[in-house]
Amino acid sequence: MKTDVLIIGGGPGGSAAAMFLLKEGLKPIILEQEEFPRFHIGESMTGEAAAVLRRLGVEEQMHARKYPVKHGVRVFGEGGKNSWFIPVSARNAQWELEPGVTWSVRRSDFDGMMLDQAEKRGATIVRGTATIALLGEDGRVRGVTMRHPDGRTEEIESTVLLDCSGMATFLGNQKVTGPKYVGSYDKQIAFFAHVTGAVRDSGTSGEHARDNTIIFYQKKYHWAWFIPVDDKVTSIGLVVPRAKFVEAKQTPEEFFLEYLPQINPDLARRVTGYKLVDNVRVIPNYSYQVRRFCGKGFICIGDAHRFIDPIFSFGLSATMREAEFAIPHILSYLKGERREDENPFAEHMLFCEQGIDNLEDMVDLFWEQPFAFATFVHRRYRGELIDAFAGRVYATEHQPSQAILTFRKMLKRERQYEHEDDYSIPIGSRYHPERAALWAPDSSVETTEEWLAESRV
Ligand SMILES: Cc1cc2nc3c(=O)[nH]c(=O)nc-3n(C[C@H](O)[C@H](O)[C@H](O)COP(=O)(O)OP(=O)(O)OC[C@H]3O[C@@H](n4cnc5c(N)ncnc54)[C@H](O)[C@@H]3O)c2cc1C
Repeated sequence: MKTDVLIIGGGPGGSAAAMFLLKEGLKPIILEQEEFPRFHIGESMTGEAAAVLRRLGVEEQMHARKYPVKHGVRVFGEGGKNSWFIPVSARNAQWELEPGVTWSVRRSDFDGMMLDQAEKRGATIVRGTATIALLGEDGRVRGVTMRHPDGRTEEIESTVLLDCSGMATFLGNQKVTGPKYVGSYDKQIAFFAHVTGAVRDSGTSGEHARDNTIIFYQKKYHWAWFIPVDDKVTSIGLVVPRAKFVEAKQTPEEFFLEYLPQINPDLARRVTGYKLVDNVRVIPNYSYQVRRFCGKGFICIGDAHRFIDPIFSFGLSATMREAEFAIPHILSYLKGERREDENPFAEHMLFCEQGIDNLEDMVDLFWEQPFAFATFVHRRYRGELIDAFAGRVYATEHQPSQAILTFRKMLKRERQYEHEDDYSIPIGSRYHPERAALWAPDSSVETTEEWLAESRV
C-alpha cells in the first residue's frame, strides 16, 4: 500500500487529522489496531475541543447522541466548602469573550463516531498494528510495517506519517523521535469507573448546570473527577500518588471504594448511593514528554508526544487542535517545500510545544499554590484563565498571557525557545528530579511501556 498521509491510530487525534485532510482533498489511510467500540479514558472536553468538532461538521452527530452538555468546570477546594467555577467560553472575531458550551462523552461511542465519520468522508481504515517505522537512507520516515489481525505483515509507504498512537507513542518507542522523558506527574495513579446514582447538580446552565464537570481537591496531588457521560452514568476518577496505593495493599477496587468519599465532603455526599456499572480501571505514570516529535516525513500529534496531567481536561482539545494546526504544514510538504530541511515541521513543533508549556505552567501553579491560583481565577486573571481553561493556549491566541507569565515567575521558571534542544527539555519530575537529569539523550531511555510494566498494578 502507498499513500500521501498515513495516520497511526484512529482515536480523536487521528480521526480529526483525517477529516481535516479530507477537507483539503487528501485521502489518508488510518491504521487502527483495536476493534471499536473500545474503552478509553478522557471524557470531558474544553470549549475549543467543541469548536474543533463544529469546524469538522460533526455537531449534528454530537446532538443526536445526546452527549451531556457542559457549561463549565467547578473546582471544590479542600474541605468542600468553597468552590470556584470557570465557564466554557468562546472568543468572537473581535476577540471578545462569549459564553459557550461543550460536551462530555462516553469515549467508546465518541471515538467510534469520529472514526466512522472519517471513513464516510473518504479515509481508508485499515485494521492492524504498526510494528516498525520504515526509514529512508537520510533518516526520513517513509512508512511502516504493519501486522494484520491474521498475523500477515505488510508495508505501507507514506510521504507523511502522522503518529496519533496516543500513549503508545509509536515513533517515540521506535526511537525515530528524540528520547522520551517522564513528566512531572509520572508518580501519580488514576483509578476510575462508570457509576450510576451519583448526585449531580440540578441547574440548566452556569455554575450549577446538571452536566458540568466537577473536580474535587483534597491536598497536593490528591483529587477526584466527576464527569457525566450520559443521562444516568457518571465517570468518577480518583487520582493520588502511587505510593499511597502501594502502602494500602488493597486491590484497585477496594482502594477506590474506600478512599473516594474521603477526598472531599462534597464528593462524599454525591456518592452515598452509587453503583459501579463496570470495573474500576487504573492508569499509573501517565506523564511524559517526547523530544523532537516532528522530523523528516513525520509529525507526532497529541498524546503521541506529550501528556502532562488530566486535571483540567486538556487532552482531547490538544490532540484535535494539533491535528488541525498540522494541516497547512503537511500540505506544503506534500507540494515539495522544505523537503531537505533537517526538520521540515520545526515551526509546527515549536508552536505546539509552546502551547503545551503554557498548560504545564498553569497546572504546576495550581498544584504548587492552589490558594493563589483560586484568587487568580476569581479576580486578577479571570479572562486569561477562562481562555486557558477553554484550551486557547497557543501563540496565535495572545499567549503566553500575563497570567501564564506570572505563573512562571512564581514557579521561578524560564522558558527558552532559541534552539530545538532548549525548548524540548522538560522541566523535570518533582517526585524524583534526578530522573530528568538521568534521561539524557543517549542514555538508555525507558519507554512508557517499560515504565508501565515495571509498575506493580
Ligand atoms: C486518567 C486520565 C484522565 C483523562 N481525562 C481527560 C478528560 O477528561 N478530558 C480530556 O480531554 N482528556 C483527558 N485525558 C487525556 C485523553 O485521554 C487523551 O489526551 C486523548 O485520548 C488523546 O487522544 P489521541 O487520539 O491522541 O490518542 P488515543 O485516544 O489514545 O488514540 C490512540 C489510538 O491509537 C491506536 N494505536 C496505538 N498504537 C497503535 C499502533 N502501533 N498501530 C495501530 N494503532 C495504534 C490505539 O488503539 C488508539 O485507538 C485523560 C487522560 C488520563 C490518563
